[in-house]
Amino acid sequence: MDKLNRPLIDLRISVTDKCNFRCTYCMPREVFGNDFPFMGRDEIMTFEEIDRLAGIFVSLGVEKIRLTGGEPLLRRNLHNLVSMLALRDVEIAMTTNGVLLPRYAPALSAAGLNRVTVSLDAIDEATFAKITDSGHTVASVMAGIEAAESVGLGPIKINTVVKRNSNEEEVLDLIERFSNRDIAIRFIEYMDVGSTNGWSLEDVVSAEEIRQLIGELKPIPSVKKSDVAKRYETAQGDEVGLITSVTEPFCGNCTRARISADGRFYTCLFSSRGLDLLSPIRMGSSDEEIASIIRSHWQEREDRYSEIRSEMSKPSDRIEMSYIGG
Ligand code: SAM
Ligand code: SF4
Ligand code: SF4
Repeated sequence: MDKLNRPLIDLRISVTDKCNFRCTYCMPREVFGNDFPFMGRDEIMTFEEIDRLAGIFVSLGVEKIRLTGGEPLLRRNLHNLVSMLALRDVEIAMTTNGVLLPRYAPALSAAGLNRVTVSLDAIDEATFAKITDSGHTVASVMAGIEAAESVGLGPIKINTVVKRNSNEEEVLDLIERFSNRDIAIRFIEYMDVGSTNGWSLEDVVSAEEIRQLIGELKPIPSVKKSDVAKRYETAQGDEVGLITSVTEPFCGNCTRARISADGRFYTCLFSSRGLDLLSPIRMGSSDEEIASIIRSHWQEREDRYSEIRSEMSKPSDRIEMSYIGG
């Protein structure tokens, strides 16, 4: 347990800091251009190192691992990592922008991946192109969703970040597009992660506004205390989730840790520093020694950034979402 009595249950592992999209709110092209210093091959963890760390985290109580990035499907032979993790007693999920799923979903499913969450901020191609700034299309993400469903990686969740004057008009269209399918859309309040996206509170479309946009919504009771989405059923019977990270923070139930692709351990999305776990691994520490480093770091954890956001001055060295893993 940490200092606020929260157990360590969910682990997000970033497998790369690279991405084939340049979402304006995450990796704006002006910052993440051709000369951006992404991590070098020697800096990032090998699959064996990731799997070893995962095993240690599982021994400390982690029940669910989510692979993320950057874009996790850019990491070559990711299915080999999945097949290693699948031997552990843990649920394995992945968050992806979806465009590479047609190519990789069959191998990932066969390797033991349980579920995918696909990020999709718009159904309208022009709006999507503006947000993702990459030449990819809604059609290619939809093909990814179909591919994942067809190999049993469902029930699929869709993540949509709603940003003012960008995609509010997509909310109803997204719900309609996925209506009557076993797919739940979760609308996420735009967060002040990192320091490159020029975040401003005015750009946040609150969950309350989204509720009003949708109209009639019936609450669905949550399954687990650590569920981050508040779940609802629309008048048409479709499930919709709202992730109220900014306006109704849920730090009190936050049981998640993150590891960046270079093996740093972060206990909050808004941390500016992570604890280096890769050096002890490469210097020959035993599993017990590493477990003890992780345990003491978690026991010291007091993070609740979203609850105290308004009292905080914004640190300039805050870590980027594409680095820490969303
Ligand atoms: N590239 C993959 C993807 O987009 O699904 C995985 C990594 S991405 C960083 C994970 C999630 O973080 C995406 O759903 C993305 O929309 C979300 N995200 C990124 N920046 C965000 C922000 N400032 N506020 C809220 N969500 C954000
Ligand atoms: Fe890439 Fe995901 Fe960030 Fe978009 S949100 S730039 S797809 S890491
Ligand atoms: Fe967890 Fe930090 Fe987000 Fe609060 S702000 S929910 S502690 S990651």
